[in-house]
Amino acid sequence: MKRTAILFSAPSGSGKTTIIKRLLQYFDCFEFSISATSREPREGERDGVDYYFLSPDEFEHRVQAGDFLEWEEVYAGTRYGTLKSEIERIADKGKVVIFDVDVNGGINIKRYFGDEAMAIFVMPPSIEVLEQRLRARGTESEESIRKRLGRSAKELSEADKFDITIVNDELDRAVAETKKVVEEFLARS
Ligand code: ADP
Ligand code: 5GP
Repeated sequence: MKRTAILFSAPSGSGKTTIIKRLLQYFDCFEFSISATSREPREGERDGVDYYFLSPDEFEHRVQAGDFLEWEEVYAGTRYGTLKSEIERIADKGKVVIFDVDVNGGINIKRYFGDEAMAIFVMPPSIEVLEQRLRARGTESEESIRKRLGRSAKELSEADKFDITIVNDELDRAVAETKKVVEEFLARS
């Protein structure tokens, strides 16, 4: 079966979840790959919708069972990963898989899908704006904000490993640019 995927990676707070949500309104061929995570749900997040929320022990058990296509300890003590069953679930429906993963995960998934995936890096206008957005989102503790910002310089330096970089300065413009590159990719795949 042909598999097609579009993956989004970026430092946390760059706006990839916001862009993906907007993009999903334009295309009905997409289905979001729901990752597993060992972190606690944020207010409003639902199990099986935003993530599969696993306890650290359950996550470890699934790693040992070989259930993950990839997984990363994105922040110390917090793991995130893509379940193989999730890719099969979406491919069986004939849908295009959309991923929202960290930068290492993005590089690994691109390697797995090759030309069947377009890898998009969402670039914040600056680290200062990234910090402002993370704070304004209001979902993270000070410690979590520091952990996220601590990774961002290294992640930004890996943008050239992706097929496309979208600068998320003005949201409408960034969404329009993303929509255009996605349409071009779908037309040739
Ligand atoms: P990520 O999924 O990359 O961690 P989010 O999509 O959660 O990032 O965005 C982080 C915060 O920044 C959210 O509060 C979101 O509403 C806001 N945001 C996203 N894009 C923009 C933009 N272009 N301009 C201003 N705020 C934005
Ligand atoms: P958050 O806690 O803000 O939802 O996500 C934190 C980070 O984990 C984000 O950079 C997000 O893209 C990444 N992430 C979410 N799911 C996965 C996954 O399945 N694999 C990897 N490698 N990273 C993921």
